Amino acid sequence: MTRTAPAENLRADPKREVLISGAGIAGTTLAFWLHRRGFDVTVIERATAVRGGGYPVDVRGTALEVVRRMGILPRLQDAHIDLRRLTFLDEDGGRIAALHPHTLTGGAGRDLEVPRGDLTEALHAAIRDDVPFLFDESIATLHQHGHGVDVTFRGGGSRTFDLVIGADGLHSRTRELVFGPEQRFHRYLGYCFAGFTVPNTYGLTRETVLWNSPGRAAALYAAGHDEIHALLNFAHPEPPHAAFRNPRAQRDLVATAFADAGWEVPGLLTAMRDADDLFFDAVGQIRMPRWSSGRVALVGDAAHAPSFLTGQGTSLALIGAHVLADSLADQDHAAGFAAYDRATRDFATTNQDRIGDGDAALFPTTAHALHERNTRLRELSTAPAAAARPAHTPPTLPPRA
Ligand SMILES: Cc1cc2nc3c(=O)[nH]c(=O)nc-3n(C[C@H](O)[C@H](O)[C@H](O)COP(=O)(O)OP(=O)(O)OC[C@H]3O[C@@H](n4cnc5c(N)ncnc54)[C@H](O)[C@@H]3O)c2cc1C
Repeated sequence: MTRTAPAENLRADPKREVLISGAGIAGTTLAFWLHRRGFDVTVIERATAVRGGGYPVDVRGTALEVVRRMGILPRLQDAHIDLRRLTFLDEDGGRIAALHPHTLTGGAGRDLEVPRGDLTEALHAAIRDDVPFLFDESIATLHQHGHGVDVTFRGGGSRTFDLVIGADGLHSRTRELVFGPEQRFHRYLGYCFAGFTVPNTYGLTRETVLWNSPGRAAALYAAGHDEIHALLNFAHPEPPHAAFRNPRAQRDLVATAFADAGWEVPGLLTAMRDADDLFFDAVGQIRMPRWSSGRVALVGDAAHAPSFLTGQGTSLALIGAHVLADSLADQDHAAGFAAYDRATRDFATTNQDRIGDGDAALFPTTAHALHERNTRLRELSTAPAAAARPAHTPPTLPPRA
């Protein structure tokens, strides 16, 4: 089943067998491109189906070319949310400024914003007939040797693969098994957040409303008419380890942080208590000196999560997956992983460096920083062109699709 192949013989050899852990954005994209490049691919996913849900995500710049090459661009254009307005409120709920979102991101033009579930569904539909997806499954152990990677699965059974790729997100199990504990690579950015869905009783359509007080923010994101994505983001000095696996502790932590907040926040806290789709996490990045070890490599958030503050995690995952598949196509895994690293590392790091500890423009942590931010916003609402800046520094995609 496995063998070591000199580069010149790879095309003639039997298909190289690859296990991808994680059927998120990076995993499904990688499955598509590896299959197209002639690999024998198996995908495992811990959840019982491709996971929908989550906030809308951005597909920008070069990532648009990736989805175009995959044939799903028209479907994503149909799903584009096309937000019209971003309104900033002060602590008492008074309006500071209302801007077109492109004023802040510089993302006018072709960039897309789509519900995360629509994107994963479109990616999955593009590859599910060609590649086996095993749901409710994950890696239990990995053992590398000269000829392959022996994998045992949580659901029982074992198999040997030529390569294993961890596309299992920010809290990657593959990374932990091969590279060590997450704390070694996690850069905490000083905030925690809780996201959940609430009924749209606010009369909002295709717009975001953002309330701030120093170190706290509440956002209402109306992608359509019926539901609102609510986000409560707050500064917290250390990652709240005790809360990570404890939904009750998460809700308590958020409620304490926003205890005396005004505007619509008390109602949001009540809704959060009952929400069945609460998504809580620390805001952080993954920074690693290398993304591969032997026959195992990482892609997407598992390798280089930039945090949602950048709006670039999805584009990084799409581009990284395409480049990784292409890098592996005509050479052995060591050369392929090195080429993947060379082609995408600057792009990942540049995007990660755009965010410093506790200084996100949307979430100022001190009264002074909030005042300065609000002053800039008021100026912007009268001279919007001043704020536009490029959203990315794209790498070059493989020439062939
Ligand atoms: C449910 C969900 C909601 C999200 N919501 C948002 C959002 O609102 N805004 C935002 O900016 N980003 C969100 N993200 C993250 C965003 O999708 C990623 O930052 C980005 O798209 C990179 O994608 P990825 O494929 O690397 O990681 P992810 O999209 O996180 O995908 C990782 C996949 O791996 C699976 N997985 C995890 N552990 C294992 C395991 N041990 N074995 C097998 N499979 C495993 C997960 O179930 C998931 O399907 C969300 C992710 C998820 C999973």
